[in-house]
Amino acid sequence: MERNPVVSSDAIELAPQRSRIFCNRTLNLRAMHAIGYDMDYTLIHYNVRDWENTAFEHVKRNFIDQGWPLESLRYDHELMIRGLVIDKELGNVVKTDRFGTVKHAFHGTQPMRFEDIKKVYAQVVVDLSADRWEFLNTLFSMSEACLFAQLVDLLDASKLPGILGYAQLYRKVRWTMDYTHMEGRLKNEIVSNPDRFVDLDPEAPLALLDQYHAGKKLLLITNSEWTYSRKMMSYAFDRFLPGNMTWRDLFALIIVEARKPAFFTSRNPLFEVVSEDGLLRPVYDGMKSDGIYLGGHAGQVEEALGIEGNQILFVGDHIFSDVHVSKDVQRWRTALVLRELEAEVEAVRGFESDQRRLAELMERKEALESGYSHLRLQAQRLKNGYGPRTGDASLEQMQGTMQEVRAQLQTVDADIRPLARASAELSSTSWGLLMRAGNDKSQLARQVERYADIYLAKVSDFLVHTPFAYLRASRGSLPHDPGRIEAQDMVQSVDLALGGSRL
Ligand SMILES: [Mg+2]
Repeated sequence: MERNPVVSSDAIELAPQRSRIFCNRTLNLRAMHAIGYDMDYTLIHYNVRDWENTAFEHVKRNFIDQGWPLESLRYDHELMIRGLVIDKELGNVVKTDRFGTVKHAFHGTQPMRFEDIKKVYAQVVVDLSADRWEFLNTLFSMSEACLFAQLVDLLDASKLPGILGYAQLYRKVRWTMDYTHMEGRLKNEIVSNPDRFVDLDPEAPLALLDQYHAGKKLLLITNSEWTYSRKMMSYAFDRFLPGNMTWRDLFALIIVEARKPAFFTSRNPLFEVVSEDGLLRPVYDGMKSDGIYLGGHAGQVEEALGIEGNQILFVGDHIFSDVHVSKDVQRWRTALVLRELEAEVEAVRGFESDQRRLAELMERKEALESGYSHLRLQAQRLKNGYGPRTGDASLEQMQGTMQEVRAQLQTVDADIRPLARASAELSSTSWGLLMRAGNDKSQLARQVERYADIYLAKVSDFLVHTPFAYLRASRGSLPHDPGRIEAQDMVQSVDLALGGSRL
């Protein structure tokens, strides 16, 4: 963790810290009276590979108990990433850009060829509100998507009798997944062996302590049940807190089995947790500060604390349940925890010089293509005897130059190819970067910029910015911004150098 012992105002200027919180909308942390936290994959980070592998094995066991021939299936951690979309109609998993255009696709566990993607998806816009699509919102979705893809392979090979199509198959996977989470065996395995599954972050408790002592009301709002939450929070936090303090002292309100996203949209009944083993008492007059509750709804949090929605920052990892709905319905400020961001930023940094070289080559390619088009138009006009012309080159001379440009284009393309491939495989060889789809933003990036005011890799990244930071969004770029116009000017100058044929 980079934290500078700032001793003078000079030092602040001389040692700017690398930003760890990325800002879509300006957010003044000083104006936040309360900070709410989700627990799973937010305050507590799991070892994704082990957690998902264990979830996969439990679900697989449930299927085997129903007579399905799944003994040989294994969880493949490299197969899926967050932000992909399951196409329940066709048994595919796709990655789209921010407009919903499919850029990559797998059918089952096999990548689809570019021509096949075009054939199937040329007329399709992926609209996440439609029933056909299932967005992979969280790291908990990895085992589900992996299992679905493997089962599509088996269904195609006619090895799943009684299943009539991909949509039915998906419903079956979803149901069995939910059942596995509910039956408790999976969570028992996690709770009985947290060393194996939890990736401890000693600095997360310090970040919360800073916020607590800065006067913020801290809230825990989790969908997990009380006994699980109590054990996991105690395991991950108590050892790092000073004196006799425990995790419970940090929070003004603890809400378990919150049923997000419904917590933000409907008025669920409220219960108070009155004993360590989770005994419940119905509550009819709202929440009170320092209470531990089950259920309820977001409006009761605002009433209990006497604050407005825009004075609460909610931090979670689930794009729909934690940030989309809380922002849309309650107008809470939102922060998304995107753990993969660390590796993503690292991969992008490691590729920086190659990316610059790739951008230069692409500019050169664009200039050559543009020059070629202008030469072609000039030749067309000359051949058909119309329009103005510059210079006195003959048709044969123009055709000769066009041939030279074509040869240059081939050389540039050969240089671009390996760099473009490496760029497309950054972070994941199958899907590339989480936040990009080709040169554009991915659907995930679109969701993040739309619903998360800020995003960060982990809760302890708040330490870099302090509870008093004014987080400013950077000025967004537009296609007609001056820097981009300069790039277009460069294309023009290469056009002219190629024969002065631009008109
Ligand atoms: Mg979570």
